[in-house]
Amino acid sequence: MTTASPATGNDQPWLAGTIARWYTENARDLPWRRPGATAWHVLVSEFMLQQTPVVRVLPVYGQWVERWPTPGDLARESPGEAVRAWGRLGYPRRALRLHAAAVSCVNDHDGQVPSSEADLLRLPGVGSYTAAAVAAFAFAQRTAVLDTNVRRVLARLLDAQRYERPGAPTRAERERAFSLLPVEPRAAAATSAALMELGAVVCTSRAPDCPACPVSGRCRWRADGYPPWHGPLRRAQSYAGTDRQCRGRLLAVLRASHGPVPRRTLEEAWPEAAQRERALDGLVFDGLVEVVVDEPASVSAPADAPAAASDAQSATHFRLPVSPRPGVD
Ligand code: SF4
Repeated sequence: MTTASPATGNDQPWLAGTIARWYTENARDLPWRRPGATAWHVLVSEFMLQQTPVVRVLPVYGQWVERWPTPGDLARESPGEAVRAWGRLGYPRRALRLHAAAVSCVNDHDGQVPSSEADLLRLPGVGSYTAAAVAAFAFAQRTAVLDTNVRRVLARLLDAQRYERPGAPTRAERERAFSLLPVEPRAAAATSAALMELGAVVCTSRAPDCPACPVSGRCRWRADGYPPWHGPLRRAQSYAGTDRQCRGRLLAVLRASHGPVPRRTLEEAWPEAAQRERALDGLVFDGLVEVVVDEPASVSAPADAPAAASDAQSATHFRLPVSPRPGVD
């Protein structure tokens, strides 16, 4: 078989072997990939890497696993401490869900991260991608790990499409990705990691570095002259002035305080009243913030019953949650 004709799904041994060899020589040295990394480390990294670049995850990940080296260590803390330690990674509900996942590991799996995808899927905050990633990277299982990077690489390589199709992976996509993996589980897991890395550092969304790509000679999109994408375009998310920025600003104030924060302090953090109240209601509803009525540290809203907007309006103080909320998903 030459390396000049475009790839097909039948090229499985060649594709997997070439990409895996490239990975062996070029993989970034990331702490959750090192020999001493535990399944908990991998789970923490996967939560943090959802929607956040590696460079921003690294410092928070390091502090997190040093402070909470096992699920039990985190489960003993309040959810608010998890939110505080999440720092500025964004999408802080992930911190609550990771805390809830740690509690589930303790309650249902003897303090260990479960190894089967079915059990992983039952952990709060774990979807099909994260379950497959943990099964592959922590437990060396043969399973299709389909994140955006892998889907994009396969769409270019095998379908001559610039981007993966919108929405969740289809069953056909999963089956094809699975069929590309070597039979031996450890080699399959290495291939999954290699495909992800190729998409993350070479076959990037906007500027693929084809001269550096180990499979460029077999890429259908390249062979076809890089045909343009006719599907829907992803809109760049704005941040400045959005409710998301407002939530982040309010949460930063609450994270910096180890006691209840008076309403007026939050008013100073985000002067626009309607947006601030909307953001505050959202934070309370999501369980990221508790309402403390009257004096600081007096009465907090029940953790499992988010305060209504009117309660939030009349409350005088707010704080990070001190007790888990049942059913965090
Ligand atoms: S040749 Fe270019 S477009 Fe094709 S898989 Fe490699 S980096 Fe991506």
